[in-house]
This record gives sequence, C-alpha cells and structure tokens, in this order.
Amino acid sequence: MQTIKAELVIIGSGVGGSAIAHQMVGSGAKILILERGDDLRNEPQNNDAEAVFIQSRYKTQDEWADLNGETYRPGQYYYVGGHTKFYGTAMFRFRDTDFRETQIDGAVSPAWPIGYEDLAHYYAMAEVLYGVRGTAGIDPTEPPREPFPHAAIPHEPVIAAVADQFCQQGLTPFPMPSAVDYGPGGKCQRCGTCDAFACRFDAKGDADTRVMRPLLKHENVRLERNTEVTHLVTDAAGRRIVKVVARRGGEVLHVEAPVFVLSAGAINSALILLRSACEVAPNGLANRSGVVGRHLMNHHLTGLMGVKPFVVNETKFPKTLSLNDFYHGLPDDPDARGNIQMLGNIKGAMIRSTYPRTPRAAADWLGRHSVDFLAMGEDLPRWDSRVRLSDDGGVQVDYRPGGADAHDRFVRHVRRVLRRAGFPVVLRHSFGIQAPSHQCGTVRMGDDPTTSALDGLCRTHDHPNLYVVDGSFFPSSAALNPALTIAAQALRVGAHLRQTLTF
Ligand SMILES: Cc1cc2nc3c(=O)[nH]c(=O)nc-3n(C[C@H](O)[C@H](O)[C@H](O)COP(=O)(O)OP(=O)(O)OC[C@H]3O[C@@H](n4cnc5c(N)ncnc54)[C@H](O)[C@@H]3O)c2cc1C
Repeated sequence: MQTIKAELVIIGSGVGGSAIAHQMVGSGAKILILERGDDLRNEPQNNDAEAVFIQSRYKTQDEWADLNGETYRPGQYYYVGGHTKFYGTAMFRFRDTDFRETQIDGAVSPAWPIGYEDLAHYYAMAEVLYGVRGTAGIDPTEPPREPFPHAAIPHEPVIAAVADQFCQQGLTPFPMPSAVDYGPGGKCQRCGTCDAFACRFDAKGDADTRVMRPLLKHENVRLERNTEVTHLVTDAAGRRIVKVVARRGGEVLHVEAPVFVLSAGAINSALILLRSACEVAPNGLANRSGVVGRHLMNHHLTGLMGVKPFVVNETKFPKTLSLNDFYHGLPDDPDARGNIQMLGNIKGAMIRSTYPRTPRAAADWLGRHSVDFLAMGEDLPRWDSRVRLSDDGGVQVDYRPGGADAHDRFVRHVRRVLRRAGFPVVLRHSFGIQAPSHQCGTVRMGDDPTTSALDGLCRTHDHPNLYVVDGSFFPSSAALNPALTIAAQALRVGAHLRQTLTF
C-alpha cells in the first residue's frame, strides 16, 4: 500500500475533471488527477468501423445489468480525456429556458439552481478551450452570446442541399457548433470518421487533446493513469473526506488531500459515492437526501437514416447542420419538442453491430445511400431511474426514461420533415442506455439539501471538501448535447476553487 499526498485531488480526466485542473494551473497547488484509463493509443483501428463496432475494441470489458437482469458491456470508454475521445464534437450551449422549470406531458423538468447568465462567461471560455466553430445569430433559440471563436465548418454539397430543402419548408437551419480543428492549417484530414471514433490526427477537440495535454506541461499537475478509485473515506464524524482509495494494477493507493473533486462521469461518480458507504453514512457519501444514483437521464436519442436509393452520399464531415425550430414545441403540440442535428456517417459495420442479421452487402449499401440525422429529446428525471449496486457489488442500471411519448410524437414529425426534404425512406433507430453517451443527473444540484446532493457550485451539501463535477450534476437534461455545459460549469467551479482555496 502506498500513500500519496496532494493539495487537490481530481478523480477523472474527462470534461469535468480536466476543466477544474485547467482553472487551477498556476495556483501553486499540487494537483493530482487519478484516471482509471490510459492514453488512447493512436493506431489504424481508431477509425476502423469493424474494430470499433464489431470487435468493440475500445469499450470497457466491464459488464453491467439492465432492468431485466440482462448483463451487457456498456458503451463506456475509460481513457485520458474520457468520453470525449469518442464524442461527436457537437458543442451546444443550453438555452436560457433549459435552466427553468418546465413540464412535458405533465411531468416536471426541474429548475437549476443557476441560470444561463451564471454560465454565459464560462460557456465562452469553454468554446475557446475546445476550439468550437459556429456562426452566431442564425439559430432562432440561441441565448445571448458573442461570436464563436472560429468560423463555422462549411456544408458539403449533400448537407447544403438538405439545408436548402429545410429552408424551402420555412425552417431555419443553422451551422452546428462543432469542436474540430478544421480548415486551412487545421489538423482535420476529412477521414470520414469522427462521431463515435477516436481521431488519429488530434483534430477532434476532445478533453485529452485540448485540455489534458497542455496541462501536463505544468509542474504542479500530475496525472496517475490506470488508477481506479474505488471509494472515499471520511473522518470519524462522516463530515470531511480524508482520503480516496484507488487500485493501480495489483497495488492499493491511499491519496490524501484537503479537497477532492469527483469527476468520474455521471454513472461512475454515483457508484463511487455509493461504494463509499460506511457506518456514519450507510447509504453512501453525499447521500443524506437519498438522490445519489437516482434521476439517471440519457436523452431520447433517435437516429434517422434518410435513404435515397439512387444517390450515394459522399459526405466526409456531415455534422455541420442543425435545426432548433421545434426546440420549444410543435405548433399544435408544445410538449413534442427537441433538437435535430446530423449524426456522423453511419457505416455498414455500425448497422451490423446493432442488427447482426443484416447481410454485409445490404448494410454497406444502406450506409452509402443514407444521410443520417439525430432527433434529440429531453429525458425527464425520475426517482426510479437509477444506477445502484446490486447485492453482489455489481452495477445495476435501472434506467427509466421520462417523456418518451412526447419524444415519439416529435420523431414522427421529424420523419415527415425529412420526407418533405426529399428522402422517400426514413429509417428509425433508438439508442438505449446500453450506450449511455449522454448520461447525467445522478448527483443532482439543487438549493434544497433534502432533494439534491450538490449546491449550485457542485459542492456536496454533506461534505464541505467534496465537489462532484461531471454530467451527474444536471438537474434536467435539456435537449442538447451535454459536454459544453459540463465544461462551462466545471470552469465556473474551478474559478471558485481558485479564489477560495489557499495553499
Ligand atoms: C459516442 C459518443 C458521442 C458523443 N457525442 C457528443 C457530442 O457530440 N456532444 C456532446 O456534447 N457530448 C457528446 N457525448 C457525451 C460527452 O462525451 C459526455 O457528456 C462528456 O464527455 C462527459 O464528461 P464527464 O466529465 O461527465 O465524464 P467522462 O467523459 O466519462 O469522464 C470521466 C472520466 O473519469 C474516469 N473514471 C471513471 N471511473 C473512474 C474511477 N473509478 N477512478 C478514476 N477514474 C475514473 C473515466 O475513465 C473518464 O476519463 C458523446 C459521448 C459518446 C460516448
């Protein structure tokens, strides 16, 4: 057993953890980041669909159980930079309405303890940090903002034609904000893989490339890779966290510090808190309210393949277009609402990994002839939607989405829009919790310690020296991609720590 001492311990090097460390650089504090994964190796398989989807080369080997007791290998990725190594680069700010209470089909999407105005400055910082490209002033739902740090990525011909078709329907397509180092002098090689693949050229604006690597040039930042935190330990009163316990190979590490930030991702942060149950906190740490692990959300994510049988889609980077005309509801059904954006190119191997009986030739043909969209709907937080530890210590994911009927009505409308846009066939596939790509909500923020675990600065109500900063803090999911909001709030919390901690 080895004991290490630091002044700030951050668990996880994803969007949340890396942004906290970014804000602490130059503070003089000795920062130690504990990361379960290793650096993701740059190799030809990074953008090989067979390796990624059929062989599941990069997914964790862990198995979790679903509501029916079936075990599965979740779409969880443990690497330096976390899930952003595989993310689709869509970097949206939430709308100002997303921070306020609303209802969908009578079920509540709760208010956040902070508003858009609290995050606006940090959204701007996060966009610079990740190199986000976009055009301000077109998206009809856009909150007040300054110009993007970089110009939008231009549409390729097929996507430009879709945008024209949308305009002819009276809609307002806009360039999707995207974190890719694209354009003259940029690193993007237009390899045709991006969303769900790791980038071989460091062009994707992920937390490893954009945040962690520059950070590690600083003497006061140390990253321990392949180090899996198992649990946290409190003082005898159960109030202050005194250390974390981690495994590195066969070795057990004890890491002591005055302040701890848990940023292991929404599902794993909840699990670590639950695994830390002890005599003074029998339901787990930060869990006086009982909310830890509950309100698990993942968005309603429906892929829509617009197929034109006689047209081959040669687009390399399709993720340049989005539509928010229905973000606040359909004209005759205000609860049916959400965002529409492009998916990365769907390839035959992806289809076969989900529908294994599809003949290879048919799957490849579909992949070549489709233009691929994503309809994203708000998932509503439910008390009974949760991640928990089973009696044998395994991971049980009892996911129960909220607002599914409204999303279904929204998707039916989107299919009509796509048919009108010239796609005679529109195929539909729902992404489930097996790929918990937009997981959030499991350690929610709130003003009331009886119904939330964190305050508006992500500090646990129960432990003054423990913060939880990753997708878990979301009280509601909104209907836009989560990474930029995680980054913005993490930068805000990091600024607070920088101001208040003395070393
Ligand atoms: C395929 C895919 C596509 C996506 N596309 C988009 C997109 O286009 N736009 C968008 O906004 N979002 C997207 N997302 C979601 C986005 O990537 C996540 O919301 C975001 O990365 C979450 O950040 P995080 O800090 O909460 O957690 P993570 O990124 O999961 O980081 C957590 C870190 O903690 C580490 N860790 C976990 N457990 C432990 C432990 N016990 N001890 C030590 N370390 C641990 C993990 O290895 C990881 O590095 C996508 C996700 C996926 C998987």
